[in-house]
Amino acid sequence: MFKGEKNMSINKDDIIEIICNMRDVIEKEKLMLTELDAAIGDGDHGLNLSRGFNAAVEKLESTAAENAAAVVKSTAMALISKVGGASGPLYGTAFLKAASVIDGKEEIDIKDFSLMMKAALEGIKSRGKAEKGDKTMIDAIDPAIEAVDRAVEAGEKPVDVLKSASEAALSGVEYTKTISARKGRAAYLGDRSIGHQDPGATSAYFIINSIYQYISKKES
Ligand code: ADP
Ligand code: MG
Repeated sequence: MFKGEKNMSINKDDIIEIICNMRDVIEKEKLMLTELDAAIGDGDHGLNLSRGFNAAVEKLESTAAENAAAVVKSTAMALISKVGGASGPLYGTAFLKAASVIDGKEEIDIKDFSLMMKAALEGIKSRGKAEKGDKTMIDAIDPAIEAVDRAVEAGEKPVDVLKSASEAALSGVEYTKTISARKGRAAYLGDRSIGHQDPGATSAYFIINSIYQYISKKES
């Protein structure tokens, strides 16, 4: 559809498929996410997200969403009501804020995507009061946004912009191993959390990577 094009254009149906892909990867990795959380939290992160993303997909399958923003908003509501824990309201807010940026739009381009990511991050920060370096999902999302800005600025193709975002998110996950947690349950461990990878940063990477994977497949 947009092979080699500079302008990515995705619509409501693409977003539904992306949410399904997010559900699939969370399902595949839920034990890993839960093990990461067992080491520095309470061992429910993978199960929480699996419940939430399954509910999100069920809702999308049973109720026709009106437009792209409605798909993202419906996902947000499912995450807020089903995930629980700290990550439920945080991811829910992220998706809700991302939906508000594309309100009324039929086609989403890479600039919209960048705005969605930024709105999502602002939502997470205002809700959870964490910053970069606190060993949370923010440590994967913030570098992904910086990478998107750099790649868009450099005039890269949308698929390459998304690839950079995914790679930066993964580096952010690695970075969480080196720092001590200052927010969430892991903060109770303080410096003993050093050496462990943050579960929320890891799930944020999976979520960002599923967007890249979808666009990459669509282009090929
Ligand atoms: P809970 O800690 O309530 O069991 P989860 O296990 O589902 O919730 O999620 C834990 C993840 O949530 C952490 O790994 C971290 O990335 C993220 N998190 C926790 N608190 C915050 C916060 N204040 N801001 C951003 N992310 C947070
Ligand atoms: Mg937990």
